[in-house]
Amino acid sequence: MSQVRRTVAADLGHYDVAVLGGGNAALSAALTARQAGASVIVIECAPRHFRGGNSRHTRNLRCAHAAPTDVLTDTYPEDELMADLMRVNDGETDEALARLVVAGSTGCPDWMKSFGARFQSSLRGTLHLSRTNAFFLGGGTALMNSYYAAAERLGIAVLYDAEVVDLDLREGAFRSVLSGYNAERAELMNGELQSQSVRYRLIELEDRLGDQLALQHEASQEQLFLPFEISPGVIIPVGHYSFQATRVSGGTADQRKVWVSAALQDGGFYSGDRTEVYGGINWRPSGRFRTSLDYTFNDIELPEGDFVTRLVQFSTEVAFSSTLS
Ligand SMILES: Cc1cc2nc3c(=O)[nH]c(=O)nc-3n(C[C@H](O)[C@H](O)[C@H](O)COP(=O)(O)OP(=O)(O)OC[C@H]3O[C@@H](n4cnc5c(N)ncnc54)[C@H](O)[C@@H]3O)c2cc1C
Repeated sequence: MSQVRRTVAADLGHYDVAVLGGGNAALSAALTARQAGASVIVIECAPRHFRGGNSRHTRNLRCAHAAPTDVLTDTYPEDELMADLMRVNDGETDEALARLVVAGSTGCPDWMKSFGARFQSSLRGTLHLSRTNAFFLGGGTALMNSYYAAAERLGIAVLYDAEVVDLDLREGAFRSVLSGYNAERAELMNGELQSQSVRYRLIELEDRLGDQLALQHEASQEQLFLPFEISPGVIIPVGHYSFQATRVSGGTADQRKVWVSAALQDGGFYSGDRTEVYGGINWRPSGRFRTSLDYTFNDIELPEGDFVTRLVQFSTEVAFSSTLS
C-alpha cells in the first residue's frame, strides 16, 4: 500500500485567524472569530466530502437550561450537568474550564441556530434524554454542513485536503517576555547575616506552546560560623563569602507527553568556582502516571580542593485518584 501526502505550504499572513481542523470545535471558533470581525481561514485535512471530523457522527448536544425550551423538556441545572461531566470523566477535568463550558452551554442551541443548525425532538428509544440532550435534525453531518454553509456565506476561507504538519511562527513567536528579581535573606536571632541571595531574572521567554528559555544572574553571600566539610577532605573555613553565578536554562512545555529541561550554570562558589550542568526528561503517558529522570553534574574548584558530584534522580508518580490530593 502506498501513501501519498500532498504538502500545502499555506501562507497565512493574509489572515487574522487560522483555525486548524474542521470539526465542530474548529467551525465554532472560526464562526466566532469571523463574527468578531477577523478574517479567517480553516485548514482541514479531510477532503470536502469527508469534512467535519467526528462531529459528523454526533447526534446531540448536552446543555443546561433553567426552564423548558423549544428543544428541551423540564430543567437541567448547571450544577447537575457539571456533576454529570465530572462523573463521566472520573474527575479528570479542568474544573474552571468545565464550569465555563457548562455555563456557556445554555446559550448553545440559539447560537447554533443562528448559523443554520436545526433541532428535533428526541429520537424513539432516547426519550429519557429529552431533558438533557438537544438533538440535531439530520444528525452531525447536517450540523456541520450548516456550519460550512455559514462559513462560506461569511467569507471564511476553507482549505481541504490540507494536513497541518508544522507551524512556522515568525511573528509574535514569544507569548511572554519577563524580567525581574527574587531576593532571600536569612539572619540569625541577633540580626547577623547568615545567607543572602539575589536572583536577577534577566530575561525569561515563553513561546505560545509553553516552551521556555531563561537567563539569570545570582549574587550570593554566605557566612560560615563553623568550618564546612563540603566533600570528604575539602573543608571551607569559617568566614564571609560573596560570589556570583550566571545560569542559562530552558525546557519544552510540560503540556506535552514527553518534555525535557536543561540548564548550565557557571560562576563563583564560596572561595572558588563551580560549573553545573543539568538535564532532565519527563514522560506522562496519562493524567495518572508520570515518570522523570534527572541528571546533575557539578565541577567544583576551590583553593581547599577540587571535586565533582554526579546526581541521578529517577522518580515515578502514580495518582490513584485524580479527585483526591
Ligand atoms: C460515533 C461517535 C458519536 C458521537 N456522538 C456524540 C454525540 O451525540 N454528542 C456529543 O456531544 N459527542 C459525540 N461524540 C463525541 C464528538 O464527536 C466529539 O467530542 C467532537 O466531535 C469533538 O469535536 P472536535 O471539533 O474537537 O473534533 P472533530 O470533530 O473530530 O474535528 C477534528 C477535525 O480536525 C481535523 N484535523 C485533525 N488533525 C488535523 C491536522 N493535522 N491538520 C488539519 N486538520 C486536522 C480532522 O479532519 C477533523 O475535521 C461522538 C463521537 C463519535 C466517534
